[in-house]
Amino acid sequence: MRIEATGSIQVFDETIEYEVRRSDDATQPRIDVDIHGVVVVLPTGSDVDPHGLVEENSRWLLKKWRVFQGHRNRAPSRSFEEGEVFPYRGEDLQLAIDDVEQSHVEPGAFVLASNAVDGTSVRSELEALYRREARSLFQSRIDYFAAEMAVEPGKLELRNQRTRWASCSPQKTLSFNWRLVMAPDDVIDYVVVHELAHLREKNHTRNFWSIVGNHVPDYESHVDWLTENSSRLIFTEDDL
Ligand SMILES: [Zn+2]
Repeated sequence: MRIEATGSIQVFDETIEYEVRRSDDATQPRIDVDIHGVVVVLPTGSDVDPHGLVEENSRWLLKKWRVFQGHRNRAPSRSFEEGEVFPYRGEDLQLAIDDVEQSHVEPGAFVLASNAVDGTSVRSELEALYRREARSLFQSRIDYFAAEMAVEPGKLELRNQRTRWASCSPQKTLSFNWRLVMAPDDVIDYVVVHELAHLREKNHTRNFWSIVGNHVPDYESHVDWLTENSSRLIFTEDDL
């Protein structure tokens, strides 16, 4: 989608900025609101006036925009110093740097090896540790649910997409955002089952959700958790 224009609208005491984009895939004009901002998406060739559309929906827009502003404001700011707290599998772990052989996770703490930190930085050593732990946890949950669901996934890739937690390619490669390892285990399991269910059903049809529900009966609460808490699963401001 290409950016065509930008604009802003005053709703009560708030100024809300928006972008206008054209999409070949869109069938109807729509307004997307998320943590990154507001985008008016118009089908290619549509003559709908984007500012008019925003004005017509201004109250709805303000409500959604405030929710996401709240998420943004709750996003943690990091200094990557000892004693700082980082989320891991739904818990807050304290960051420690110690004269140990290898960086590792132990109950209540991320322990980084001081010689590794000296060679790089706290930030990159912590990210490397997160990624190692994420890979091994995701792989073991994929193996577990793949057997239960009788599907055969391809390889696991770790990524850091700003707005996606996971995806499944036509070649059956499963891509997971490593920051998902910050979420509680049952939320991680839901995302794993969601991607594995795509090996049976490509689209989010009723059948798709019934496959998911067979393996994670309370999946709706995990979908909500991710919507409400995505700003807590950030590593640095770049992830916002
Ligand atoms: Zn999906």
